[in-house]
Amino acid sequence: MAEQESLEFGKADFVLLDTVSMREFMANLKLRFEKGKIYTYIGEVVVSVNPYRPMNIYGKDTIEQYKGRELYERPPHLFAIADATYKAMKRRSKDTCIVISGESGAGKTEASKYIMQFIAAITNPSQRQEVERVKNMLLKSNCVLEAFGNAKTNRNDNSSRFGKYMDINFDFKGDPIGGHINNYLLEKSRVIVQQQGERNFHSFYQLLLGGPEKLLRTLHIQKDPTAYNFIKAGGVLKSAINDAAEFKAVADAMKVIGFTSEEIQTVYKILATILHLGNLKFAMDGDSVFIENSKLVSVIAELLSTKSDVVEKALMYRTVATGRDVIDKQHTDQEASYGRDAFAKAIYDRLFCWIVNRINDIIEVKNYDAKIHGKNTVIGVLDIYGFEIFDNNSLEQFCINYCNEKLQQLFIQLVLKQEQEEYQREGIPWRHIDYFNNQIIVDLVEQQHKGIISILDDACVNVGKVTDKMFLDALNTKLQKHAHYSSRKLCATDKTLDFDRDFRIKHYAGHVVYSVIGFIDKNKDTLFQDFKRLMYNSSNPVLKNMWPEGKLSITEVTKRPLTAATLFKSSMIALVENLASKEPYYVRCIKPNEQKSPLLFDDQRCQHQVEYLGLMENVRVRRAGFAYRQSYDRFLQRYKMISEFTWPNHDMRSDQEAVKKLVECCGFQHDVAYGKTKLFIRTPRTLFTLEDRRTQM
Ligand code: ATP
Ligand code: MG
Repeated sequence: MAEQESLEFGKADFVLLDTVSMREFMANLKLRFEKGKIYTYIGEVVVSVNPYRPMNIYGKDTIEQYKGRELYERPPHLFAIADATYKAMKRRSKDTCIVISGESGAGKTEASKYIMQFIAAITNPSQRQEVERVKNMLLKSNCVLEAFGNAKTNRNDNSSRFGKYMDINFDFKGDPIGGHINNYLLEKSRVIVQQQGERNFHSFYQLLLGGPEKLLRTLHIQKDPTAYNFIKAGGVLKSAINDAAEFKAVADAMKVIGFTSEEIQTVYKILATILHLGNLKFAMDGDSVFIENSKLVSVIAELLSTKSDVVEKALMYRTVATGRDVIDKQHTDQEASYGRDAFAKAIYDRLFCWIVNRINDIIEVKNYDAKIHGKNTVIGVLDIYGFEIFDNNSLEQFCINYCNEKLQQLFIQLVLKQEQEEYQREGIPWRHIDYFNNQIIVDLVEQQHKGIISILDDACVNVGKVTDKMFLDALNTKLQKHAHYSSRKLCATDKTLDFDRDFRIKHYAGHVVYSVIGFIDKNKDTLFQDFKRLMYNSSNPVLKNMWPEGKLSITEVTKRPLTAATLFKSSMIALVENLASKEPYYVRCIKPNEQKSPLLFDDQRCQHQVEYLGLMENVRVRRAGFAYRQSYDRFLQRYKMISEFTWPNHDMRSDQEAVKKLVECCGFQHDVAYGKTKLFIRTPRTLFTLEDRRTQM
């Protein structure tokens, strides 16, 4: 039983702490980590601390122990949450979801994989072939997505550089029959440059180090990663992962999932194109730009199944419509480099989205499946970037932190709502709970016309040169009264902010200073139409299909494309709506130290994460109502030995009456409420006393 752990291993549920203080919370978290207990509950929320070492707690035996059990019957574990999610879905035909959050390296992706493995292990007892096929594909898809969407960073050797939400569909028997993946905001700037100590996406190194000679020859690629500018900037070429072996695993996974060989070849061609693009050098000859190593142009043309002069023109010129005329405007060398970089980023981003779509085509529940299998329900798993505060925070961090505000808002609403609903179900009066509602920060970012994203979009649509500084001025004018916004202009004494560059948002999780440099450019995310047309006109049908908008000629392109921040905002609103329609379960991941060490618990770093994950608030909400609740029969099972009226069996009309008698015997009647099926205990102290009496018997 979870509570039994408390003496040696600390409290298995933070709700049971003697007092709710940060000190006690941290002491319990640390004690458990040091004792190798990486999971702890807050009610039904799992708090997980990355152990940074292999743990022998995910095997078949453990799966068996958690399968079909109630949450409190076993020590805290991801599997218990996975099982609770699955049971809720199956018993009550409810769509459920698991939201996994935490900062980079905290263990979100590992957790999501263990959850999927658990679900795969406990379903399909009759070994239906079709279901086994679906399970295999869902598991295999991870390997492909990680190759293209993950990279070595200074924080994590296998860092997911995109957000992922995966639905698993189940039939009426509770077996997986399909799935769907949504991906969010891939960090595509990594395609062209990496910080010191970091790498580009794994896929490039895998190709170089694992691709067969013959393939590399057809791609005109050498085995040497130092030969390519786009993948060597970080100064590390190797990671802890065996790239060559992974190349094979990913190729096999793509095959198993159902990518055609033409598609797989095209994937490699795109990777090779990007590597070659990175080596192109532009220079000026008087007023004209030229390409120093122009033989690369023909290589790129070959890989993209188009003509050299088409590639050359797209790189050096830009078609512009002036009134009715269409002219070719030559780039400067700087503009040409900018265009090339945008092109490289765009084709990788598009490749990634295309891979996700292809996987979806294949794993999606087909109509006929749904008909055969009757009603189907869903478990969603969200593995998404946690709150980020870097030395320099730009539009990417702004989006990521906005995402976390949205999820926090959902968490507040749903956790409170869930509690409220349970009280209603059980017929217990609801008491209002006070908490910080971060809606005001969500509004600051996303409100139409008044929010930061709208102000940024306004700056981006203005013709003429609007600078990042002008955008900052607009923010300062429009948001000067907002309690969660500040800048040097609004607060002259705040020397930590740069007058021309910085603004600060008071996020629920802490203050973050953003630098506006690059905001406009990143938000516009311009890719010249010439490149889109080049891709669309490729004689490779796979490439052509990836770039349908290349069909439009310059005079037909009238609509301004949506900006990056607005697209992100729409995807977040849709995500939150989707999650809100499901019954949520939470996994909150914590990274114990920066050194990836299994031994070190860095108090300060951990406390900071506990703060911004809102865990103390979570404990308070949980305790403000009732700290503990248990169904009457299970409560009796555990505590009946305490009272002569209930030991060994009671002769009352119902378990509820027996529990009432037991509680009164102990003198706790003022600290409990009797629901329809459960006993609710307000303070943890009561529970400890019960536990003590139980062990003294
Ligand atoms: P990011 O946001 O960068 O994607 P993340 O939260 O997804 O980070 P993971 O990639 O899941 O982090 O974990 C980082 C590393 O920590 C893993 O590669 C693994 O080495 C280790 N790790 C995480 N969870 C566990 C676990 N439960 N058992 C053992 N090692 C783990
Ligand atoms: Mg990850």
